Amino acid sequence: MQFDILTIFPEYFDVLKVSLLGKAISEGKLCVNIVDIRNYSQDKHKKTDDTPYGGGAGMVMTVDPIVRAIESVDPSHEARRIYLSPRGATLNQSKVEKLAKEERILLLCGDYEGIDERVIDLCIDEEISIGDYVLTGGELPALVLVNSVARYVDGVLGSAESTSEESFSDGLLEYPQYTRPEIYRGLRVPEVLLGGNHHDICRWRKEKAIEITMQRRPDLMAKADIAPYMPKKPKKHRK
Ligand code: SAM
Repeated sequence: MQFDILTIFPEYFDVLKVSLLGKAISEGKLCVNIVDIRNYSQDKHKKTDDTPYGGGAGMVMTVDPIVRAIESVDPSHEARRIYLSPRGATLNQSKVEKLAKEERILLLCGDYEGIDERVIDLCIDEEISIGDYVLTGGELPALVLVNSVARYVDGVLGSAESTSEESFSDGLLEYPQYTRPEIYRGLRVPEVLLGGNHHDICRWRKEKAIEITMQRRPDLMAKADIAPYMPKKPKKHRK
């Protein structure tokens, strides 16, 4: 899978050198092309922003350098073109899984007060937000999107199970995890996890996942498939 990321702050993406993503990029399982929008400015000072028409605070990123950058990187519009924006649909796990099926994704990072609307009219397929809050730029949202989507690209994670048994994979939040030692400051690992009975472990994990989801995110419960794990209602006895 290929990501093209358009930004005026390419340094933000140095972080892609580390951890699993850094390894996947160096092994060629993932391709990330960072494009500096300033290189497409025709202004002699490489300016990429201007004051907003109609007045108001801050600066707006100008249309021409961004359109020229997009058209140079993706001339035949092969990539899914996304503008990271607080106005977009909020990113969630099902959207992440859909995006992971794309072969190529182009991410446009806004900065200052955002971008000239005509960039969106001319070049963008969709706007995506990472949550209902405003950041100074689209670089961190782009990194969040790349990180979450790349986890579904073959070979990026260590084992196939890594994405199948975690929060949201079955509509629930994840069960508690433990590793050695068995007792730490008086806190014991639950007995069931030490017994080696796979069926009991699966059942305990599902029950814990349901309990945690009901406490923290009851809104998720409506869509989760939990019927087989719910305690049976006691039968009414006729007198
Ligand atoms: N004036 C814009 C507004 O009120 O919607 C906010 C602009 S913000 C300061 C600058 C840039 O950060 C945006 O153009 C966008 O690319 C990015 N950004 C900020 N918050 C974001 C979020 N929650 N999700 C995705 N991108 C965001």
